Amino acid sequence: MSFSSLGLSKEILEALKLKGYQKPTAIQKELIPAILSGRDILAGAETGTGKTAGFVLPLLHQIIQKQISREQGSAERPREHSLRVLILAPTRELAMQISEQITQYGHFLPLKNMVVYGGSPVAAQAKRMAGGIDILTGTPGRIWEHLERKNLDLRSVDYLVLDEADRILDMGFVAEVSRIVQSLRPDVQKILITATLTGSVKTLGQSILRKPLSIETAPKKKKPLSLRQVLHPVEKEKKPELLSYLIGSRNYRRVMVFVRTKREADSVAEALQDSGLETAVIHGDKTPGARRRALDAFREERVRVLVATDIASRGLDIKALDIVVNYDIPHVAEDFIHRIGRTGRAGREGLAITLSSPEESVALQSIERLLGGALTVEEIPGYAPPRLPEHQGARKKAATTKGKTAGAFGHKKREGTGKKRKTTKRDGYKASSSVAKKKKWR
Ligand code: AMP
Repeated sequence: MSFSSLGLSKEILEALKLKGYQKPTAIQKELIPAILSGRDILAGAETGTGKTAGFVLPLLHQIIQKQISREQGSAERPREHSLRVLILAPTRELAMQISEQITQYGHFLPLKNMVVYGGSPVAAQAKRMAGGIDILTGTPGRIWEHLERKNLDLRSVDYLVLDEADRILDMGFVAEVSRIVQSLRPDVQKILITATLTGSVKTLGQSILRKPLSIETAPKKKKPLSLRQVLHPVEKEKKPELLSYLIGSRNYRRVMVFVRTKREADSVAEALQDSGLETAVIHGDKTPGARRRALDAFREERVRVLVATDIASRGLDIKALDIVVNYDIPHVAEDFIHRIGRTGRAGREGLAITLSSPEESVALQSIERLLGGALTVEEIPGYAPPRLPEHQGARKKAATTKGKTAGAFGHKKREGTGKKRKTTKRDGYKASSSVAKKKKWR
């Protein structure tokens, strides 16, 4: 299948040629005709699949076709720019990336697009919007702020996109999204893109979409086939040291490290920097400029390591990552899938390393449940948490067991079909009640 067979206008095809795209990706093959049909859409797609072009291309096509027919029917001079497409994205980075792609794909079209997000002066954004724009991309909080200040009128909008809707909801933008949707005409075509179909996304979909077409190209639990995963048990305090040891001794050149909190992101980055590894950091407290500089430094390989929080890293378009490190276990299990989805993309062999301390065993269990199996455990001498002497024999036995799993270092063992976990004794270890665990890891 080619882009031209999808019926896109010649200006768009020209722009795609400039970008060097040969043919549509799987999600684009589905999404483009679906959007062109005019129906509301609920699409399951992750970053890295080409989802952005999947919704941007048909929307560009539609607004330009409508513009042509409007102009043909009137003797007036070409219309002024008025807002037709509103795109909501969870983070500044994603919003910026979408807007950049719109600029590229719309290179030969007379359309104005703009991006707005928090942390930038509101007045300057309002002034630019007042000059007339056709497409607006932004974070829900900032879009809502502009609406409240009456800088923005959504009555002319024909299309709404909620990109990474699951993350928008995770970040607590439910109220903003529903207020924004209420400010739209009811006949607006709505496109909801999400990586995971969680309960809250379903509820949102049911409340705002009319008889949506469902599109799913990447099943939720699917992980890249070319991805190898390994888990290193480690005491919490030793994590920074183990991380720099792994990167340094194995000479990893480009590593993305995920952490849960902003504070942790800063302290991990500092520790890596202190150990001589060039490191950049991205999290929600960084200014847009600082985030962009960090990302550029990583993309251009001026730094070896990028430390990022889940929220800030969501939607970042970083190509060809060979190594991803889960510095900790995310509280939201789906975040783990997003993290490891950063590597092993496009058929490349990827490695996802997880550092897990005893305190994280419960969170680890829910990750393993989501993955449908236990992670392979590899103990790094000098870093694995010590066990009580009575367990030493058992530990030796575990080490020689083929297909050793997380259960072998003190987590609950998956039994039978793996559907249900049972607290059990394994290889001589005590049952993994929290009391037993505390003792074991002391
Ligand atoms: P996305 O999933 O939208 O973040 O896109 C991931 C990457 O794929 C981006 O760098 C796009 O520029 C690129 N891309 C999108 N569509 C195509 C295509 N049909 N052929 C090649 N690359 C593409």
